[in-house]
Amino acid sequence: MTTPTPEQVDAWFAQAADITLEGMRAGTGGPFGATLVHDGEVVVSVGNTVLKDTDPSGHAEMVAVREACRRLGTLDLSGMVMYATCEPCPMCVAVMMWAGITECYYASTRDDAASNGFSDTHLRRYLDGSDTSTMDLVHLAEGREECAAIWTEFRALNG
Ligand SMILES: [Zn+2]
Repeated sequence: MTTPTPEQVDAWFAQAADITLEGMRAGTGGPFGATLVHDGEVVVSVGNTVLKDTDPSGHAEMVAVREACRRLGTLDLSGMVMYATCEPCPMCVAVMMWAGITECYYASTRDDAASNGFSDTHLRRYLDGSDTSTMDLVHLAEGREECAAIWTEFRALNG
């Protein structure tokens, strides 16, 4: 992987910012965008689609991963680099990791987002264990044979 020039990085952030502003002005998305790059080439550049798709998971980095995977027909985006207008939330960090992305650069911070009404502090506190009151995550160990049977069939199908 070659190191991008500062001009390339400027262009990738500018592209993400432009598409974000477009979505904001059209009322289709919030103030977040992302450009996903592979070997110096833009794979996708997208804005947040939460409003357009009535989808709480329509964060820019999530949308970028979905679009790239769909277009390329792969679940593996390893080697690609994300350029996000704002620090990714834990959900987006997770989806990037699921897709094998190991590098993400961002500009605005979680504090910038929070001061504009987009705090992800509840997620961060839940995940670091400092406040788990926001969701009851309950393990029902007994009486769920139909769920256990899924593993049996999975092994049979993939044995
Ligand atoms: Zn996110």
